[in-house]
Amino acid sequence: MSIELTEEQKILRDTLRKLGKEKLDKLTIESDRADEFDHESLRLLKEIGIFGLPAPVKYGGSEANATMLTIVLEELGYFSPSMACTLIGHLALVRPLYLGGNAFLEEKYFTKMAKEELGAFCLTEPEAGSDAASLKSKAVLDGDEWVINGTKCFITSGGVADFYGVWAVTGPGKGANGISLFYVDKDTKGLSMGKVEEKMGVRGSQTAEMIFEDVRLPNEYMCGGRGKGLKLAFEGLDLVRCGLGGVSVGLAQAALDQSIQYMKERRQFGRPIAQFQALQFMVASMAMKIEAARALTYQTAAMYDSGRHGTDLITKSSMTKCFASDICMEVTTNAVQLFGGYGYMKDYPVERMMRDAKILQIVEGTSQIHHHIIGRNLLS
Ligand SMILES: Cc1cc2nc3c(=O)[nH]c(=O)nc-3n(C[C@H](O)[C@H](O)[C@H](O)COP(=O)(O)OP(=O)(O)OC[C@H]3O[C@@H](n4cnc5c(N)ncnc54)[C@H](O)[C@@H]3O)c2cc1C
Repeated sequence: MSIELTEEQKILRDTLRKLGKEKLDKLTIESDRADEFDHESLRLLKEIGIFGLPAPVKYGGSEANATMLTIVLEELGYFSPSMACTLIGHLALVRPLYLGGNAFLEEKYFTKMAKEELGAFCLTEPEAGSDAASLKSKAVLDGDEWVINGTKCFITSGGVADFYGVWAVTGPGKGANGISLFYVDKDTKGLSMGKVEEKMGVRGSQTAEMIFEDVRLPNEYMCGGRGKGLKLAFEGLDLVRCGLGGVSVGLAQAALDQSIQYMKERRQFGRPIAQFQALQFMVASMAMKIEAARALTYQTAAMYDSGRHGTDLITKSSMTKCFASDICMEVTTNAVQLFGGYGYMKDYPVERMMRDAKILQIVEGTSQIHHHIIGRNLLS
């Protein structure tokens, strides 16, 4: 699908593409090899205002819509999947703030975003992954302050973020309706980083445990009111799932482009391997699937931007996230196949791409959970 980009969208895409070719590409290889957070790419992206994009204009942001953010994420998926995941974690805190933020929270955290401060989404716990409603972290009212205790795991940008959105039980026994959302600054007393994970892919992003020990917050740090936290988290996920479609399409496109270039150069049986019909068919199939995933992704972004929120959008964002990430896994795996033994070696980028792709089928709802959401919504 060729979407008609506005002048502003073209400028941003081209700026990112240039930055990607000149700097991010190399930094992605280096941070993957070193298995270290890619501070330099984060700095470069902040310099061009990427993390302030979603904040409202009145707080100094650009109020970028879903289409604009998806374009950004597609470019980051192509050049820096680690930074794409870092941005995704940040974006997951945007919609809850728009929908549930009081005047104090909006001003404080949208201003932080506009100043390129980074947010991290703290929902998952050791015993609460796909079943987010079973989380155990607690927030208890003590006078006019909430006291939060609990441990979150697998938090993207844990320990490097400037602020955190954390979900905790405020109404024990009420399940999904007993969970509230709080925004917390990084230097708040009682907040610390635990284990930093060693990962298969997106090794330039940081994934860490975050520990909340008697973290005290005034009531105004609660977003959306008591018991409304999980609903806000899920409403925020439509944007993020569509964005993950963009990341998947970008990464799959990068693997396809690498494959095409390699197939024209690599010779076997006296000719470039690009001349073998079996491989041409593989490439054709990869390209068709990427185009289909891209079309679905931008269609969902357009639906989001038109304001048609509700069950249809939830279904569509689930389809987008699940379909595009599955395609990305398939395409990157086939790219390794097309490179033969060289594809298995770290000298070529497709090995890293295949490892990076895997996380896209797991975060923000696994592929199985998305099949569940889509099936349930279609049959209800
Ligand atoms: C690198 C990385 C970064 C992450 N970043 C964040 C972050 O920033 N913030 C955050 O809050 N979380 C984050 N997560 C957590 C992520 O969202 C969870 O890992 C994911 O939701 C799955 O939860 P789980 O790992 O506990 O798996 P489980 O829920 O235990 O699932 C295990 C398996 O069972 C399947 N399964 C579970 N329930 C069902 C069901 N009802 N029907 C069918 N199959 C089912 C799953 O699909 C999976 O295959 C991150 C994870 C990783 C690996």
